[in-house]
Amino acid sequence: MAAPPTTTVSSDDLSMDSSLNASPSIEDRGMYFKKEPRPTTVSLQEWQAWGTDSPIPTQVAEIVEEMIDLDRESDAQMKFGGLGGKLKGDFKTQEDKKHRARYKDLDDSEQKLHFFSARQIACRLLGSRGYLCQKCWLPLEDCMCSRVVRCDLWHQIQFWLYMHPKDFLRQNNTGKLLWQVFGINAAKLCLFGIAEHEEIMWKAFMHSGRNNVWCLYPNKNTPTKSTEESFAGYILNDLHSETHQKDAGQTFNFILIDGTWSNSAAMFRRLKEQSYLRWGDDLPCISLATGASAMHKLRPQPSWDRTCTAAAAIGLLDELHLLSQFNSLGLDKQAEAVENSVDVLLASLTNRRIRMGRSITRRQRHHNDIC
Ligand SMILES: [Zn+2]
Repeated sequence: MAAPPTTTVSSDDLSMDSSLNASPSIEDRGMYFKKEPRPTTVSLQEWQAWGTDSPIPTQVAEIVEEMIDLDRESDAQMKFGGLGGKLKGDFKTQEDKKHRARYKDLDDSEQKLHFFSARQIACRLLGSRGYLCQKCWLPLEDCMCSRVVRCDLWHQIQFWLYMHPKDFLRQNNTGKLLWQVFGINAAKLCLFGIAEHEEIMWKAFMHSGRNNVWCLYPNKNTPTKSTEESFAGYILNDLHSETHQKDAGQTFNFILIDGTWSNSAAMFRRLKEQSYLRWGDDLPCISLATGASAMHKLRPQPSWDRTCTAAAAIGLLDELHLLSQFNSLGLDKQAEAVENSVDVLLASLTNRRIRMGRSITRRQRHHNDIC
């Protein structure tokens, strides 16, 4: 057994982000100001429409209220706009000052992480309201929802999108595609540093047992198994029989880390730490054998296989499909459904760029940024 990890998150991840993006839509957003009406509380319905069935996290709700109060009390009005759809103007200055002070006063790194994440989420919720489609996270005029084809994921697979707050409501995020295609129960959103979300996820893992949880993490320094090795011991003869479907005991949980390459290391460390706390043992990991070559037909991008969340899900389903125990479950078709949704997302982002007069060079860069 390897030594347990000693750190939860790096100091970089805990630092307050002075350029806090309300909606990380890169430059596309142009000038967009929320002037009227004054911001209001985020309702449960509004929260859940973004892709989760969880209650509103307490700390997120608190920060939303604080921002609304600040908006009401101060001369400065809450504004979002400019490059990246950031908080703007005097309100930003005041909000920043207030929340930086709060952050400094917090005692430990756990509290700081919770606060950091909740503040990111709260700002994104308020800044994206009325601007992004709640299902596809694209600007309303570019909504791709009608072109996404739904598909049922094999009922014993459960995906967990462990998402960094900075990826929440990001237009070119691909993790969101999984619940657009498979639904929010088959592909569950778990926001990094949001206590309620992490608790829901770990509760499910404890219920399934450590033998039924895997993290897809392509880090060469981590002991990982291939898909084939991970399932060598499983005898799944009756998996698609009626009687077996009633056996709720066996769910295969796959964690997909949904963050930029630099953020994902801290997210992985936190998962490992939780694994030691709960099981006294390391988190089982799978590394995909297919990687870039299998993805080549999908998109010839250098960064694609390494960090793209949808590509990881596609790769896993394809590799499982090759195993005899799994090859009659239609996992290849389910992988294809995700692949098609990636194509739809890329086309939508590209069309938007062309319509807004972006150059081919930018379009190329955009493709590289897709993950
Ligand atoms: Zn949409």
